[in-house]
Amino acid sequence: MADVFEEETEQTVSLNEYLDEVEDQELEADLVLGGDEGKECTYAKGYMKRQAIFSCLTCTPDGNAGVCTACSLSCHDGHEIIELWTKRKFRCDCGNSKFGEFFCKLSASKDVENEENSYNHNFKGKYCTCGRPYPDPDVEEQVEMIQCCICEDWFHEEHLGLDSTNKIPRDEEGEPLYEDLICHMCSPVCSFLTLYPQTIWAAQQQPNTATPSKDKSVQTAPSASGSSTMPENGTSELPTTDHPADADNNSKSENNDKGMILGEKSDACLLGVDLLSAELTSAKSQSMFLAKNWRDALCGCEKCSEFYVKKGISYLLDKEDSIAEYEKMAKQKRDEKMQQQEGAELNFLSNLGHVEKMEILSGIADMKDEIRSFLQSFDGSKPITSEDIHQVFDNLKKRRRME
Ligand SMILES: [Zn+2]
Ligand SMILES: [Zn+2]
Ligand SMILES: [Zn+2]
Ligand SMILES: [Zn+2]
Ligand SMILES: [Zn+2]
Ligand SMILES: [Zn+2]
Repeated sequence: MADVFEEETEQTVSLNEYLDEVEDQELEADLVLGGDEGKECTYAKGYMKRQAIFSCLTCTPDGNAGVCTACSLSCHDGHEIIELWTKRKFRCDCGNSKFGEFFCKLSASKDVENEENSYNHNFKGKYCTCGRPYPDPDVEEQVEMIQCCICEDWFHEEHLGLDSTNKIPRDEEGEPLYEDLICHMCSPVCSFLTLYPQTIWAAQQQPNTATPSKDKSVQTAPSASGSSTMPENGTSELPTTDHPADADNNSKSENNDKGMILGEKSDACLLGVDLLSAELTSAKSQSMFLAKNWRDALCGCEKCSEFYVKKGISYLLDKEDSIAEYEKMAKQKRDEKMQQQEGAELNFLSNLGHVEKMEILSGIADMKDEIRSFLQSFDGSKPITSEDIHQVFDNLKKRRRME
């Protein structure tokens, strides 16, 4: 018995550490929910550009439906819910024909079906090419998965078909240096990206080799160099400047650079290529890692736009489609909310009369006193029980009565 307690005391965290952790979790949750308070069903908003979606395996075990945050809380409380993070262009299904007799408590009148919704195997609780659940009960340590910005499925690093020339761009601390992943199954649709200059690719940091920064962009565009210009059985471990295929790539991108200013949109095609008729041969399907703000560089000319529509990827031109933008807006909403809360608390206190204010402040002081004396008298080798907590509050009550 004694052993058990000793182990427990070793694992304790300080109150500050605990509060930091709670705050991190709250921030993460707020970023996924995108400022949605989870009070109203989002059905009336139609197919939203991006929102948090949940699948209920209790109601729709086939994984052919998704519900919004509010519905997951109000209509499916206690059900087996899967968090799907965010999905683009989705409309809440709660209570429609897929749910049988079940009615949505928040927004009961819905179309029979949301025809534009799409459902991948994530809705069944499966992810990646391996189709494993997350968290995976068969794995001791869960590894983070990466979401593809095209199919929106999530992938394990080792199932992205990466080789030595195509690694996940990360800095020394292991933090990602890319904004978006395009998985190896979606990359053929996006092979036109190899026509863009190197700046749209996330830079791969070279461990152990101090390379002059000028050469960096050359070595790092694993996917661009893995395009049609790269022989299928590329012999070099990592592309170097004197590799013929790369030299070819460089001169190409320099030509592109001249006529191209990031973020500038005009009627003239930035690529100077008609993508609709261009022969885009993709030698092999490699996962692609795109740099921060890469979407800003995409050409929005008429021809290119037509091409995006044909390929079903026109959302790439919509800034609000990106997770980065979604999280930025979520953060703004969160900051506003927190400021309002702080303001309300200050207002509350400053609107009180002097006597009420003193009452509250002395109440807080009493509580601190009581908790402090409890902690001082507390035997640190024992776990705190709910009885102990009740005792603290009973003492507080007595104290108030005595005054
Ligand atoms: Zn809903
Ligand atoms: Zn349900
Ligand atoms: Zn509902
Ligand atoms: Zn996998
Ligand atoms: Zn994909
Ligand atoms: Zn264009």
